[in-house]
Amino acid sequence: MNQQANQPSEQVKKIVIVGGGSSGWMAAAAMSRHLPSSVSVTLVESDQIATVGVGEATIPAIRTFNAGLGIDEAEFMRETNATFKLAIRFENWGNIGDAYNHAFGFYGFPINDVSFQNYWLKMKQSGLDFPIHDYNLAYAACDQDKFARKQFDPNSADSRYFYAFQFDAGLYAQYLRKFSEKNGVTRIEGKVEQVTLNEHDGFIKSISLESGQTIDGDLFIDCTGFRALLISEALNVKYKDWSHWLPVNRAWAASTKYPSKDSSIPPYTRARALTAGWQWRIPLQNRTGDGNVFCNQYISEDEARSQFIDNVEGDLLNEPRLIKFTTGKREKIWHKNCVAIGLSSGFLEPLESTSIYLIQASVLQLIRNFPNMNFSDTSRNEFNHQMNYRYEEARNFLILHYHATEREDTKFWKYCKNMSIPDELAHRMKLFKERGFVAGQKLDLFSEHSWLAVYFGQGIVPAGYDPRTDNVNNEQIKSFLERMRTDVQLALKQMPSHNKTLESFCRGELISKL
Ligand SMILES: Cc1cc2nc3c(=O)[nH]c(=O)nc-3n(C[C@H](O)[C@H](O)[C@H](O)COP(=O)(O)OP(=O)(O)OC[C@H]3O[C@@H](n4cnc5c(N)ncnc54)[C@H](O)[C@@H]3O)c2cc1C
Repeated sequence: MNQQANQPSEQVKKIVIVGGGSSGWMAAAAMSRHLPSSVSVTLVESDQIATVGVGEATIPAIRTFNAGLGIDEAEFMRETNATFKLAIRFENWGNIGDAYNHAFGFYGFPINDVSFQNYWLKMKQSGLDFPIHDYNLAYAACDQDKFARKQFDPNSADSRYFYAFQFDAGLYAQYLRKFSEKNGVTRIEGKVEQVTLNEHDGFIKSISLESGQTIDGDLFIDCTGFRALLISEALNVKYKDWSHWLPVNRAWAASTKYPSKDSSIPPYTRARALTAGWQWRIPLQNRTGDGNVFCNQYISEDEARSQFIDNVEGDLLNEPRLIKFTTGKREKIWHKNCVAIGLSSGFLEPLESTSIYLIQASVLQLIRNFPNMNFSDTSRNEFNHQMNYRYEEARNFLILHYHATEREDTKFWKYCKNMSIPDELAHRMKLFKERGFVAGQKLDLFSEHSWLAVYFGQGIVPAGYDPRTDNVNNEQIKSFLERMRTDVQLALKQMPSHNKTLESFCRGELISKL
């Protein structure tokens, strides 16, 4: 297969996806939509092997993915019991008793191209005492369980925010299955028992099912979850363990009932820090998803289960289920003719809902760097570079949450507070502490405003600010700030409740049946 890169080479024609969780069906849907119809897509999944069955909160990039598929948002939300998500609400992270929102909204407006926080910091040093989140509409909306479905407009005070969804990931996979099958994807039910490699180059030649059927392909996508059947078991690509930075390694997961059909549904995911990890609560239209993520070096599985049950709100709909994992990433996500997508490629832990984002980024990067039959290193290296960058960016953002804490009440928090962190993150934190500057490349992952939310939310207040703020006199800054704060209050007043928006947009039918 490895011909000279410059020679014309045949196109990859047969894609075989193994695994039918969210990653498998997201890959199938996007490939069947975006690649030429001459490329066939086959997906193999086994009814005997369950999907991981959690993964319900997303970040705003999911909307770009769905829009690329041409999906109707109201239909998708009805089919997956989705709610709107404006934020994650963090409790007890900086210190016990603290709370803040990481909202997908912007803090104020820049003035003369200088970011808003600099003016706020300058005014704070001269006595202004409004918190920075008073200038963030999405933040304020979460505090009142409000939501309006707006298109992001950077110039308009009432729509400087993005939104994401909280949904049933199992239903999302089913929804995308229907979409993919309509688009020509062939689904085969069966358990893969053997993976055969070419003798001459070690590429994957075919997979064989329990039934005896053999399926060959040009490009194989490993969506087999933590099993990593192709990328690890067959191709032996090693895993980079990041648990020294992200030590949680277990979760108990279950669902709960709403007390009544009129219960207020918050437009955010809740992440409450506990003694050796944290507990999530994700509101869907018909139930909540709940779980407790922890590190078993600091709390036993049984203790964590009791802690989860003690902290959960509402009646459990099922017995908590234990999930084990190791945070980290595959050394190479694309190796030879195999690309790992989803949990087979790595897992960072669910705190900032980055897994589904990383699936979508992998799928779209693969389509952008789609190989031909020579499988040149160029496309593979570019893909691996792009994905490494995204994984490391997400990882560093997550580490920030654990490291930027004042907590020392348990061994777990002492460890997190005092652990060494990646150089890149240490550098960024220093820049922010010294002069309020948020470093980082612009990606569709977390913007400057997301970093600000966590820095300020966890008590990091910079010593200085951008000197260019001196180009605007203090009276003018004060009046700009006052106008921005008033605009947020006015927009908030007009915003309907999240329940109301859900009901008119997609929940009306469900609510009439409850
Ligand atoms: C505790 C926890 C909480 C999470 N929360 C979030 C969240 O809030 N937001 C978020 O974005 N992500 C979250 N995630 C991650 C998210 O669940 C996954 O990224 C997502 O579900 C994708 O999983 P997957 O498709 O890679 O694997 P899986 O869901 O495990 O699917 C694996 C598939 O492979 C098939 N398979 C396996 N072996 C074989 C075989 N031999 N033959 C045939 N088929 C086979 C199975 O049948 C199944 O269809 C969470 C994960 C965990 C563990």
